[in-house]
Amino acid sequence: MAESADYESFYRRSIDQRDDFWAEQAQLIEWQTPPQRICDYDNPPFAKWFVGGTTNLCHNAVDRHLRERAEQNALIALSSETDTEQVYSFAQLHQEVQRMAAVLQALGVKQGDRVLIYMPMIAEAAFAMLACARIGAIHSVVFGGFASSSLATRIEDAEPVAIVSADAGSRGGKGVPYKPLLDEALELSKYKPAAVLMVDRGLAPMAMREGRDHDWATLRARHMDAQVPCVWVDSTHPSYTLYTSGTTGKPKGVQRDTGGYAVALAASMKHIFQAQAGQTYFSTSDIGWVVGHSYIIYGPLLAGMATVMYEGLPTRPDAGVWWSIVAKYQVTHMFSAPTAVRVLKKQDPAYLKKYDISCLKTLWLAGEPLDEPTAQWISDALQIPIVDNYWQTETGWPILTLCNGVQQQPSRFGSPGKAVYGFDVRLIDESTGQELTEPNQKGVVAIEGPLPPGCLQTVWRDDERFVDTYWKSIPGRLIYSTFDWGIRDADGYYFILGRTDDVINVAGHRLGTREIEECIAGHSSVAEVAVVGVADAVKGQVAMAFAVVRDATAVQDEAGRKQLEAEIMKRVDGQMGAVARPARIHFVALLPKTRSGKLLRRALQAVAERRDPGDLTTIEDPGALLAIRDMLG
Ligand code: AMP
Repeated sequence: MAESADYESFYRRSIDQRDDFWAEQAQLIEWQTPPQRICDYDNPPFAKWFVGGTTNLCHNAVDRHLRERAEQNALIALSSETDTEQVYSFAQLHQEVQRMAAVLQALGVKQGDRVLIYMPMIAEAAFAMLACARIGAIHSVVFGGFASSSLATRIEDAEPVAIVSADAGSRGGKGVPYKPLLDEALELSKYKPAAVLMVDRGLAPMAMREGRDHDWATLRARHMDAQVPCVWVDSTHPSYTLYTSGTTGKPKGVQRDTGGYAVALAASMKHIFQAQAGQTYFSTSDIGWVVGHSYIIYGPLLAGMATVMYEGLPTRPDAGVWWSIVAKYQVTHMFSAPTAVRVLKKQDPAYLKKYDISCLKTLWLAGEPLDEPTAQWISDALQIPIVDNYWQTETGWPILTLCNGVQQQPSRFGSPGKAVYGFDVRLIDESTGQELTEPNQKGVVAIEGPLPPGCLQTVWRDDERFVDTYWKSIPGRLIYSTFDWGIRDADGYYFILGRTDDVINVAGHRLGTREIEECIAGHSSVAEVAVVGVADAVKGQVAMAFAVVRDATAVQDEAGRKQLEAEIMKRVDGQMGAVARPARIHFVALLPKTRSGKLLRRALQAVAERRDPGDLTTIEDPGALLAIRDMLG
């Protein structure tokens, strides 16, 4: 391959000779039919990658490795919650995936059908994802921490033929039943799937509905010797949808292709992660998030690595649990989020010295800003490179980082790094749409089309929303907005300065404040509510709600406030899941609004963070904001 050791020219080539560059990267995966055209951008902003090529994600993640590493570890499923360890070689994974594929087919799943996966971090979740890829079905994983109403919205949007779930997850040693939430979601949803496949872990009783609900163990036993060939699909065939929060209450189904995604991930394993087949990758994320898709399941397996799937907290049974996994399974690559590191930082540092973790080469952190004290602490503790990387559910792989597989580059505290090859990153002045070319100017981080392979093709069944949401926010130009503020220094290092919209980031999890507001507003005592993200030392941000009640006497005294707060929290837990629960609910008389009635979330956030809310002249009634400031003290 005509690769240069110099990152700058590698990057330039990815932009200036885009098709040649990506044609080379496409050789990192196996195709049934090679692509005829590398990028079709005839209808911007819709990009089609590797047109005419046919391939299969499961073939590339599993089957292709049978030739050289059938007996090597592929999937290491560990749970400190149930104290179990299951290790599958590529050959065993291949078998399990075929069993799952056969079961899904028996339940009526065909190419192009959706399968919704609502599961804890267990091996069967990986089998289900890979089985879908194998038969050309489109999976849609919903994070297990989401509750019934969030799940119902996603079921209605995805219209899955089948749902794969489990009796329960477990957190902090306590079982978290999934089936009752799933049943409630299925009641709520106008769309009803034909089949539900349940994995019974023996953690919680399940009420099985005759004709609809099926037991995985029973069906698996019927398909022990199943041989289900990979279905060769077009490169542009959707591999999955993954819902993410935006500025409206309705989550967006990010739709990803097959060939572009496979190539993008395989290339990232080489150029970003410096991966080699036979090594072991441990990402502490969850399959419900994009990191789980790209760097628990597909990326490491595409590279022929073993991947660790871990159910449990970083602190249980003690704060050494991650490092014991690293030592035991000789983990070489680790991927986590700053918030988890901040949790560990509060624990006894002796845990870091308890195990021999000299096998670990690099720790990548993503999902939220990496603050300097956290980066410094973990870098001192581990004595290995800590690499920040910035991306989104929409892109599927990093936009900004240091591509040390191409050229080693020094990191800079506070910066996730430089633009990654393939991403034509620009900084744009929000109001004029002009590009900011001087160093250290603050603008919206935007990406010139076409987006590179692996990024979202569209919003599931809503091309218009894809174009309107992402490509039309900058006046006068068709350019993809990340909705993040950023600056770039004179050496091309970017710094991310927070969101431009109402999306918040709690412990690396992206949540739309509107969704939480809609849920709280559904409580009969609440007249109006605003939710904002407030800085938090451990979680990065937490949600804080400001509610106006219908009857002020209900919150007159402390007992009344406490009771209503608890009721609202319970409602959020029950409908959206504990992940969305606000840290506090403050009851206020009025919310700050503009004269046109628009909620001023940014001013509210400033006050909640004890910052200057800035210009109050646009506020209809500045007294509303001042009263909240006084209340917060
Ligand atoms: P998600 O789609 O859930 O991965 O969230 C993406 C958002 O998380 C981005 O738009 C950023 O606001 C934030 N984010 C992700 N990674 C980083 C990072 N390394 N530094 C700063 N912010 C980040």
